[in-house]
Amino acid sequence: MAVRYADFKDVDITSFDVLVVGSGFAGSVIAREMAERGEKRVLIIEKRSHIGGNMYDSYDDAGILIHNYGPHIFHTNDKRAFDYVCRFTEWRDYQHEVLSNWYGTYMPVPFNKNSMRIVFGPEKAQKYIEKLIDTFGDERKVTINELRSQDDADLAEIADFVYKNVFLYYTQKQWGLTPEEVDPSVTARVPVFISEDNRYFQDAYQGMPAHGYTPLFENMLDHENITVCLDTEAESVFELVFESRAEDAPLQSIRVKDVDFTNPIIYTGPLDELFLSRFGRLPYRSLDFDFETLEQEVYQPCGTVNYTVTEDFTRITEFKYLTGQQSPRTTIMREYSKVYEDPMTQTPYYAIINDENNAHYQRYKSLTDHLPNFYALGRLAEYRYYNMDVIIGRALALADELLK
Ligand code: FAD
Ligand code: UDP
Repeated sequence: MAVRYADFKDVDITSFDVLVVGSGFAGSVIAREMAERGEKRVLIIEKRSHIGGNMYDSYDDAGILIHNYGPHIFHTNDKRAFDYVCRFTEWRDYQHEVLSNWYGTYMPVPFNKNSMRIVFGPEKAQKYIEKLIDTFGDERKVTINELRSQDDADLAEIADFVYKNVFLYYTQKQWGLTPEEVDPSVTARVPVFISEDNRYFQDAYQGMPAHGYTPLFENMLDHENITVCLDTEAESVFELVFESRAEDAPLQSIRVKDVDFTNPIIYTGPLDELFLSRFGRLPYRSLDFDFETLEQEVYQPCGTVNYTVTEDFTRITEFKYLTGQQSPRTTIMREYSKVYEDPMTQTPYYAIINDENNAHYQRYKSLTDHLPNFYALGRLAEYRYYNMDVIIGRALALADELLK
């Protein structure tokens, strides 16, 4: 079979038990669960002209499989999430490695024992490694903030080097902020690792869908109870009914095609955009992707190279490493981080987590609190920095709750 697509204008909204906005992992997992486990009839509306959210991949003109919205590597310790996605695709074993291009020299990121040997030379590196092991233990991960807070002179020198050569410029490019100005959880994603393990992630389950993400989503949404309407934006088809005309008045109901939709609505888009940004736009970072196909088999030594001290892009990904595809040509992608200003031409990729923005988000969230059938789910709708596996776990948990 295949995904059942329909034109929104032909849809009889009264024939659906669940309405899902968005077809990334949040929307697709909840849709599948409600359709299959709950035997509910599910309608997905998706504003893009394809399913799969940010995981969408496709073949470019050179026949290379690329990730259109940025490189996505699956990794998790959540067995339930991994078992779940295994239902819809085979997996290829892939352990992601990242190198920093440090003025033309490559060193592993996360910064580890091997990086230290490259940067400090074997003798000094050995002294520093022993100091790190004495202080934190072997095979331990230490955040840059934790390392910088140490009094010891050797540890301070390591911290200073890593701060200036791995974090400072990359973070400024990515966020327009210094590492001190971003939420500590952001830089904590990439610790200093007292190890010789050069992998970017140490999770128990890692890999890439053997045939790409798009077929995974096609299999997930291929269910007789699921209908998908592409090119359909929630703001354009929802009529929001508020308790009063006051700016902060909560939502009372959502009408779709002149019908009060009282069954569950799972919304996975940016929450501010549903309310036409009435309290001002929630801050996000967006990205520009610059794809280039080269007439050579290989461009760089691993899947991703981070430019931590030079260049105005943050990183280059070479997709063939991720996908395992063989070809005499290769496609690479440079990522340029931007302020998110225009929903018409840009995509909100990263919520900018801080107390002020969280409070701003909560103001939008409270508009939905009185509407018992409305659920905000996903990286955009929850305004969080979630990886794919967390979203899959959260969607499964919401399905458990709704199907109790
Ligand atoms: P999305 O994938 O963003 O899906 C939301 C969907 O809703 C989209 O299809 C969108 O078009 C649609 N939509 C939004 N608003 C509306 C609306 N108003 N009406 C209708 N449809 C709407 N995670 C990892 O685990 N590993 C990685 O390697 C990794 N790499 C990443 C790289 C980049 C550059 C980025 C930005 C993220 C990366 N992530 C990675 C995180 C991953 O992208 C998210 O965890 C995942 O996309 C979350 O799924 P989601 O369904 O919540 O959101
Ligand atoms: N980071 C950095 N230098 C690096 C890698 C990461 O400064 O070489 C910081 C940067 O602030 C980045 C954050 O760590 O935004 C998280 O990195 P990660 O690779 O997890 O980001 P993502 O893949 O989600 O863009």
